[in-house]
Amino acid sequence: TPYQTVDVRELLDSTLTMFRGKIPPGISVATDYDPDLPPLPAYAGELNQVWTNLIHNALDAMAGTGRLTVRTAVEHDTVALIEIGDTGPGVPESLRERIFEPFFTTKSVGEGTGLGLDISFRIIAGRHGGDLRVESEPGNTRFQVRLPLIEAPP
Ligand code: ADP
Ligand code: MG
Repeated sequence: TPYQTVDVRELLDSTLTMFRGKIPPGISVATDYDPDLPPLPAYAGELNQVWTNLIHNALDAMAGTGRLTVRTAVEHDTVALIEIGDTGPGVPESLRERIFEPFFTTKSVGEGTGLGLDISFRIIAGRHGGDLRVESEPGNTRFQVRLPLIEAPP
């Protein structure tokens, strides 16, 4: 997909729409979008792939019961924060770096390739000059994407 000015909220909503029907009834979805978040330059299709990976992981982690949260914010006027949160068991401290490695998965064969976070990190950091990290405690896990609001075209 081309590098273009994108409305992050629109991208998130379209990804959530794709998941409609795949979200179990025991999971609630809450969105909290910062109205001051301006459009930003990005590869729209690749960002949608990131949201899809993160939401997929959040749903897997909650195993049918919990709350999925999608939040945006502006930090320091220069950075867009996009946060996908879940109420699952969390990522143990000992795994918090390894989960971003290619082929690292704790899922059964056929359920996970271990590529989602590796690809997501490369899209965010490599392609957009941003950052992807996780903050996690049991019952409260947040995958945080940070994207520069103003950037020279690649
Ligand atoms: P996969 O989903 O195929 O396992 P990913 O790269 O997407 O591969 O994720 C790697 C691992 O990171 C997962 O197997 C899981 O152990 C952990 N993980 C990712 N997201 C979450 C989450 N929201 N809660 C708990 N663990 C997670
Ligand atoms: Mg995954």
